[in-house]
Amino acid sequence: PAGAGQVLKVSDLSKSFGALQASKNITLDLRAGEIHALIGPNGAGKSTLIKQISGELRPDSGSVSLLGRPVDDLDCVARARMGLGRTFQISALAMEFTVLQNAVLGALGARGGVFRFLGNVMRDKALVAQAEHALERVGLLSDAKRRTADLSHGQRRQLEVAVALTLQPKLFLMDEPMAGLGAGGSQALTGFLDTLRHEAPILLVEHDMDAVFALADRISVLVYGEVIATGTTEEIRNNAEVQRAYLGE
Ligand code: ADP
Ligand code: MG
Repeated sequence: PAGAGQVLKVSDLSKSFGALQASKNITLDLRAGEIHALIGPNGAGKSTLIKQISGELRPDSGSVSLLGRPVDDLDCVARARMGLGRTFQISALAMEFTVLQNAVLGALGARGGVFRFLGNVMRDKALVAQAEHALERVGLLSDAKRRTADLSHGQRRQLEVAVALTLQPKLFLMDEPMAGLGAGGSQALTGFLDTLRHEAPILLVEHDMDAVFALADRISVLVYGEVIATGTTEEIRNNAEVQRAYLGE
């Protein structure tokens, strides 16, 4: 049947900021086990689309379905509880907290808990165990006691993924997770995302074309708020319009 294995469906989404149309009738989907990359020049509307899927921004028209259910009336917290995991282009970590504290707060949020006193939260053994497990998965457990501000940029990116993992998401939205990583960092994260996709498919906004070509099952190209092409890596590489609009820079 149509939509089988479809974890996310975006239908005809449009959004304007004043006179600027940042999303124009965007339709795309994300299927089980896949990494679907979203590429396009700066200002094309990639982050704006991600925010409409996560529920941070309301579209003017169109619809978003998660796991076969329309979520247009749900806010971002409710969508997260359904299993929508998210990392941000701009970090949302508490820099003065330790790595473990950030992960524990992520785990608390995933449970729907409200943060009051950090001391109480850190004494919750189940939360701490869940946070440590997520840190272990991204290779950050040995850094658990460090202050987040003292991490390298790459380590902070790993921590953001760990925080998202505490939610045990059914799908991920990632907005430029490789940004600012060195070659070693992007390769490590590429390897990790390649295994993560089997647990939760990923809609991946990324400028690092090595990572995109290595990971993506499908690629959609966004230019001036419009999806100008969707296809396999090969199809997108060989698409003349895409080369003109984006890859040929
Ligand atoms: P990308 O992530 O592809 O670089 P964005 O989605 O951040 O692009 O932005 C798309 C366009 O929408 C840009 O022209 C940007 O300036 C504009 N824009 C994004 N957010 C807002 C906002 N809150 N208010 C007004 N304009 C915005
Ligand atoms: Mg962006």
